[in-house]
Amino acid sequence: MQTPAPFSYERATSVDHAIELLERLGPDSRIVAGGHSLLPMMKLRLAQPEAVIDINGLAGELGGISIDGSELVVGAMARHNDVLDSPLVAEHFPMLVDAEQVIADPVVRNRGTVGGSLCQADPAEDLSAALSALNAVATIRGTAGPRTVAVRELHTGPYETVVGDAEILTEIRIPIRDRCGSAYEKVERRVGDWAIAAAAVAVWMDGDTIADAGVGLAAVGAEHFVSPAAEAALRGQQPTDDVIAAAAAAAAADSSPTTDQRGPAEYKRHLAGELTARALRRAVARAQGGN
Ligand SMILES: Cc1cc2nc3c(=O)[nH]c(=O)nc-3n(C[C@H](O)[C@H](O)[C@H](O)COP(=O)(O)OP(=O)(O)OC[C@H]3O[C@@H](n4cnc5c(N)ncnc54)[C@H](O)[C@@H]3O)c2cc1C
Repeated sequence: MQTPAPFSYERATSVDHAIELLERLGPDSRIVAGGHSLLPMMKLRLAQPEAVIDINGLAGELGGISIDGSELVVGAMARHNDVLDSPLVAEHFPMLVDAEQVIADPVVRNRGTVGGSLCQADPAEDLSAALSALNAVATIRGTAGPRTVAVRELHTGPYETVVGDAEILTEIRIPIRDRCGSAYEKVERRVGDWAIAAAAVAVWMDGDTIADAGVGLAAVGAEHFVSPAAEAALRGQQPTDDVIAAAAAAAAADSSPTTDQRGPAEYKRHLAGELTARALRRAVARAQGGN
């Protein structure tokens, strides 16, 4: 089946209007942002919303990338290419540039949004792993007002999030801390494909010691896209070969991949460890002023 089931179409004129429409049209209504995930699912009839609420008119309200105090703020309607081209992102969080460079292709990156990626919650999705490693926080708005949720608590399972039926994710806030280095490593079958496995590592250095670390994993079944064991293996340690090997082993142990057309589970588990080690080395080098 290549055509969607019948649905009504509404165009939101503000975030408040979008929330009002979600409330009025009920749980069978869905937000559409870039449409790169929702529309294929509707064509395949894996999703059959009765109403679609278009938020593409809200780029002014939801589209920016800016600094607010000690946080980088990325609007939910920021497109992948906005993130890729942002000097603020490149300056503070090069991991996000690494990740955006390997998300799909320019056509998808022109339309796909940060909010849509996080809310789609595909287990192989790249930004959830990257933003979880950076300890980003999502702002979600509904009729009761805004609430915040750590990105690493946003997903409750594959294709499921804590965003309620009448709520909308409005922005992501990433804390900017001194001496941060970050990097993203992904292996894909061909350019532009979803990950076979990917790892995101952020480190915050105190001298030669890793004071704090965030380790994200994509496509390997890690709960909430993170590896708490790898993070624990890094905190308070110097990035020696032994420590890097321990963190890599912990990341592999925290993953629970399945065998599918992208490869056997054991290969993906091996990649989770190897990519964590590679991203970690680059993150430390960046924190120390290199690349
Ligand atoms: C060919 C192809 C290859 C791809 N490759 C990759 C890849 O390698 N890595 C990767 O990470 N992604 C990949 N993607 C996915 C891409 O990043 C999509 O842009 C993304 O999954 C969805 O973003 P969207 O804005 O299109 O969301 P939509 O399709 O519009 O929406 C997706 C879901 O999120 C909900 N939603 C959207 N915005 C909000 C919001 N602000 N608040 C609440 N709910 C919201 C919608 O209701 C829907 O349920 C690929 C997509 C395609 C088509």
